[in-house]
Amino acid sequence: MKYDVIIIGAGPGGIYAAYELTKKNEKLKIAVFEAGHPLEKRKCPIDGEKIKSCISCPSCSIMSGFGGAGAFSDGKYNITNDFGGTLYQYIGKEKATELMQYVDEINMQFGGEGTRIYSTAGTKFSKICMQNKLKLLNASVRHLGTDINYVVLENLYGSLKESVDFYFDWPIEHIIKTEKGYLVSGKEQQFEAKQCIVSVGRIGSKWMEKICEEMEIPTKSNRVDIGVRVELPAVIFSHLTDELYESKIVYRTEKFEDCVRTFCMNPNGAVVNENTNGIVTVNGHSYEDPKKHTENTNFALLVAKHFSEPFKDSNGYGESIARLSNMLGGGVIVQRFGDLVRGRRSNATRILEGMVRPTLAATPGDLSLVLPKRILDGIIEMIYALDKIAPGTANDDTLLYGVEVKFYNMEVEVNENLESRHKGLYIIGDGSGVTHSLSHASASGVHVARKILEG
Ligand SMILES: Cc1cc2nc3c(=O)[nH]c(=O)nc-3n(C[C@H](O)[C@H](O)[C@H](O)COP(=O)(O)OP(=O)(O)OC[C@H]3O[C@@H](n4cnc5c(N)ncnc54)[C@H](O)[C@@H]3O)c2cc1C
Repeated sequence: MKYDVIIIGAGPGGIYAAYELTKKNEKLKIAVFEAGHPLEKRKCPIDGEKIKSCISCPSCSIMSGFGGAGAFSDGKYNITNDFGGTLYQYIGKEKATELMQYVDEINMQFGGEGTRIYSTAGTKFSKICMQNKLKLLNASVRHLGTDINYVVLENLYGSLKESVDFYFDWPIEHIIKTEKGYLVSGKEQQFEAKQCIVSVGRIGSKWMEKICEEMEIPTKSNRVDIGVRVELPAVIFSHLTDELYESKIVYRTEKFEDCVRTFCMNPNGAVVNENTNGIVTVNGHSYEDPKKHTENTNFALLVAKHFSEPFKDSNGYGESIARLSNMLGGGVIVQRFGDLVRGRRSNATRILEGMVRPTLAATPGDLSLVLPKRILDGIIEMIYALDKIAPGTANDDTLLYGVEVKFYNMEVEVNENLESRHKGLYIIGDGSGVTHSLSHASASGVHVARKILEG
């Protein structure tokens, strides 16, 4: 089969690249190969009753399939260059913002209309944070919610499948450069294209590394973020979440001068498992529909670590910590903040007696046996700092789930068009190490599509 463009990966990066290509040139022959299932077949088997924790399915429905890692996410599209990736370093801040806004418009056309956009512009919380040694980062955030995000994806698929050939459950194994373009192979079949967009996300990190080695594409190690997910009664953060929805707050610790930051805040949301290459970590999401709201808010507290010499495998370091937690807890560990600071393991009774009802069935345990002291000290300091702007954060019953690890793919060397050293081979989204979010990954897809269209 011959195509004009082959896209590998149907996450936001791949989807918005396909959208832009088909919208602007109906004649292009486009194929999308996706290792995971179609949207309607994506179902994580954890039901909290028969299956309580991750059983490591061959294709993880949380991370893979149409919609990528973002399909069951909270659908928070942050329009900012302050976090979510470094796309702006390649294409400039103005262009990056413009593309994120364009993606927002598409999301509105495909079912997102009526959802709210929140902004930090002019908020009183910037000052309150500063007065308490905290820094609030600037952003506008469109909160689609897990439910509307799904509707948008469903509608996008409905529109795209008319003009794009989708190959699901079709992991691509090799990319070979030819005189005319690229040969892409998987399931013992070969497909040919003039140009190829690789958008394989975090789940494709190991594969991406292999491809870069085979094709001699230079890479650089990236950072890893390690920490916990905090869950507490929604009222404790409601003054912040009602106005800003998500607040990205940074704290510089006194002891080590490390930066600890809040990440992925989910008001009235739920804590969930995440499986990256067989390692179970924790994440969170929340629904737009008030009927599906829980009484809790959750967010991550993360510390960034970047190794370069002589050890440079930042992800390997994060993986080892996550494996340790999986070894001790059989998956994710949960601990009350009060137990952590008293140096004792949490148990089921103390959690049951506490004020916060956990939204994820995790193993009560002791996070101090898992997280390095430096990281744990930073997290504890940050919880006390947050307690000043949201009293109750440092309550004994506040739950900490661990570990949360944000793996970043190694940074692949690409130019301002996100094109690798091989002409016509573009590497985008989280798989490139350039982006770490829905909005940046989607914007990177639109960007390469436009470059391809320009010829
Ligand atoms: C639970 C959860 C919640 C999140 N919440 C948010 C949020 O609210 N806001 C936010 O900005 N970000 C959030 N994120 C992160 C966000 O989902 C990602 O940044 C985004 O999806 C990256 O898009 P992508 O297209 O680069 O990659 P992905 O979405 O990871 O998609 C890559 C796709 O490529 C496929 N693939 C991989 N290898 C191959 C191969 N060899 N052949 C074929 N297909 C392959 C994968 O199966 C996958 O479907 C969340 C992530 C998770 C897991």
